[in-house]
Amino acid sequence: MLGQEPQVERCEGGFLVRAGEHAVRVEKLFLAIGRQPHLAGLHLERLGAPLDARGVPAHDSATLKVKGAPVYLAGDAAGGIANLRRAAEQGRIAGWNATHRRKHRYATRTHLAIVFSEPNIASIGREWDTLDPQRLAVAEQRFGPVGRAMIMGQNRGMLRIYADRRSHRLLGAAVVGPRCEHLAHLICWAIENRMTVERALEMPFYHPVIEEALQDALLTLKAELARLPLRWRLLPRRPAPVRKPAADLPAPA
Ligand SMILES: Cc1cc2nc3c(=O)[nH]c(=O)nc-3n(C[C@H](O)[C@H](O)[C@H](O)COP(=O)(O)OP(=O)(O)OC[C@H]3O[C@@H](n4cnc5c(N)ncnc54)[C@H](O)[C@@H]3O)c2cc1C
Repeated sequence: MLGQEPQVERCEGGFLVRAGEHAVRVEKLFLAIGRQPHLAGLHLERLGAPLDARGVPAHDSATLKVKGAPVYLAGDAAGGIANLRRAAEQGRIAGWNATHRRKHRYATRTHLAIVFSEPNIASIGREWDTLDPQRLAVAEQRFGPVGRAMIMGQNRGMLRIYADRRSHRLLGAAVVGPRCEHLAHLICWAIENRMTVERALEMPFYHPVIEEALQDALLTLKAELARLPLRWRLLPRRPAPVRKPAADLPAPA
């Protein structure tokens, strides 16, 4: 049903959700809505930098400086994911850069977003719909048979994790399940450390813990990667990066 505008109507015992050709009857609905920084009224257009669809002026995402103006952005106002720790770190860097000649740079880290619902929902790393499915190996693990989740009586949910077919590096994951905020951090740290599926499987796992869901998913992913090389050879190679013509480069000082 993803990618389709949903239509919801009440029905006996819950709701009927229609999206495209699909329809599903559910007991409850979970409504997730985004928030936007309140930039209207600040007249940021007067800075002269182009504004994006949310009204955020074009800026250097590392120095946080608005293009062509001595103005710095931080936190929600800089766009992207709304996260308290990110906002605080950017605030420190923007404040420093606004008052110093030598600039500090904000390092973009692996994407991590968590919804503190019960069960948790999390997305980690590269988003699924930004990747070419032909270049991915994917594994899905349900929480149904995960020992710890069964003991807790919360064995409903799903972990989907994906890796690059060629390098075997972990790229991203999405998860709905019990205590997944912790699982999400574990996966995020593995991606940040550029771990391959095989390297991640060398990490120690205890029993019975929720982390075994990740271990099982990684084992499936490893099997999937072992199955793929033959088909992988049929894939077109990535085009070589286009080099800038020398004439466009600035003259040496
Ligand atoms: C309901 C809710 C739940 C959230 N949950 C989480 C969470 O679980 N984890 C997490 O990491 N993040 C969470 N966030 C996001 C997090 O709070 C923000 O990303 C973070 O506070 C952004 O910091 P900031 O300094 O950019 O903006 P803010 O904290 O919004 O600070 C901006 C300040 O500027 C003031 N201001 C606005 N306009 C003007 C003006 N014209 N003149 C003077 N002052 C002005 C505002 O009053 C405010 O005090 C949540 C946010 C909301 C709203």
